[in-house]
Amino acid sequence: MLVPVVGFIVDLPIEVQETLDIISGLLLAIYTTVCLSLRFKWFYYSTKYTFLLLKHMYQVYGVQVMLEDAWKKIHFPDVLRVFWLTRLATQAVFLVYAVKLANASAGEAASFLSISGCDSTLTVLGMSAVISSIAHYLGLGILAFIGSTEEEDKRLGFVAPVLFFILALQTGLSGLKPEERLIRLCRNMCLLLTAILHFIHGMTDPVLMSLSASHVSSFRRHFPVLLVSVFLFVLPILLSCVLWQYYALNTWLFAVTAFCVELCLKVVVSLTVYTLFMIDGHYSVVWEKLDDYVYYVRSTGSIIEFIFGIIMFGNGAYTMMFESGSKIRACMMCLHAYFNIYLQAKNGWKTFMNRRTAVKKINSLPEVKVTEDGEIDDVCAICYQEFRTSARVTPCHHYFHALCLRKWLYIQDTCPMCHQKVYMEDEAKETTSFSNNNGVAVPNEEVGQDLVDGEPERELDGHDLSEEESTDGDEEEWTAEQHHSNAEEELIHELDNLRD
Ligand SMILES: [Zn+2]
Ligand SMILES: [Zn+2]
Repeated sequence: MLVPVVGFIVDLPIEVQETLDIISGLLLAIYTTVCLSLRFKWFYYSTKYTFLLLKHMYQVYGVQVMLEDAWKKIHFPDVLRVFWLTRLATQAVFLVYAVKLANASAGEAASFLSISGCDSTLTVLGMSAVISSIAHYLGLGILAFIGSTEEEDKRLGFVAPVLFFILALQTGLSGLKPEERLIRLCRNMCLLLTAILHFIHGMTDPVLMSLSASHVSSFRRHFPVLLVSVFLFVLPILLSCVLWQYYALNTWLFAVTAFCVELCLKVVVSLTVYTLFMIDGHYSVVWEKLDDYVYYVRSTGSIIEFIFGIIMFGNGAYTMMFESGSKIRACMMCLHAYFNIYLQAKNGWKTFMNRRTAVKKINSLPEVKVTEDGEIDDVCAICYQEFRTSARVTPCHHYFHALCLRKWLYIQDTCPMCHQKVYMEDEAKETTSFSNNNGVAVPNEEVGQDLVDGEPERELDGHDLSEEESTDGDEEEWTAEQHHSNAEEELIHELDNLRD
């Protein structure tokens, strides 16, 4: 097999080289045929065995597991990576050799990546595989840095290459001329970078929220997350500044800038909510307006994001009409319209309606003012704090802070103590009874368990109390969140109070 290579190196005449190629190919073919025919029986049975195995797997586990298994067995991404890197390295060696020979400028070397790196769909796939492993380790590194254990967030190694590949298909990267291809590749890389930054923001945001909500005040835990956030704010600004200096406005630059601005905005929203929660944690009094402020900040952010979604859709439509209109772009635009515009509008509207109905329900409940002689001899069963100004009374005669009950009502319609409907028709009111054991057991056991564990800096799984998260319905974590007391006797006393 190596004979033609030797022939190439020692510079044999071209006809001799061609003959060598043919001879070496023929030898290889004959060798393969002889081997196969000698072991024909083995070949036949192993093929049949593989076929039966695949058929069996398909019947038992379905096509998805079969494909996944095959994917793992043939190490497809690894094969692609090795292929691409070897090809790149070989061509780099040849290019350096050629540059030395011709004494040409080194500038050509830069364009080399685009010439050989993505000149066909296969090489684009190889490049995606390389990007996949880079993104994977980048994602893992950042997760470790900010101290997140979210399994879902490890998908960066999957998201980035898919995005790169789709972008390459969408812009017809491999079909372009070499010089154009380099420019196109750089542009795609910029878009990919902003997308990855958005993804990283998606990873840091929950950590930031959990840190602020759990009142952990260790600098070591906060600093990395804040650092990444600041980085996410500064990098897009730098990127768009640099790009604006070198390029005139076109649809691509517009898209990158819009992505950057959107990212900055998201970071600002996250940091503002974080600051609000930190301020709330710093003062021990109940901050009644906090929930509203968080809601305003978040909804402003969401509305602007939504507007950006529409602008990007318009930008995409413009590109499709006047620049390049491929089927893939059309598909991507449909996906964009569904996920970034339709779903976002739907969720925003749902949150808004949830809030409105919750407020309406609260206002329909009777209010008891706290008088001088301390009329309400009880604590709110949600936050275990005393009533300072007033309390709302449910039809089942349980007392809550209006704010606490409202947050609860985002999650569900029943009383947290006794699981009876909070908001009901008048005729049903008469049949309600007092709390039963079941109703008391749910929130209190959780809190009790936490106290027995007795960690001073108890870190809860951290759910910000804003509306989006609350609707998930994590009632147990949620009830435990605002509890500060640490003495078991106090708890037992409180439990008795509540049962009364
Ligand atoms: Zn309360
Ligand atoms: Zn009740």
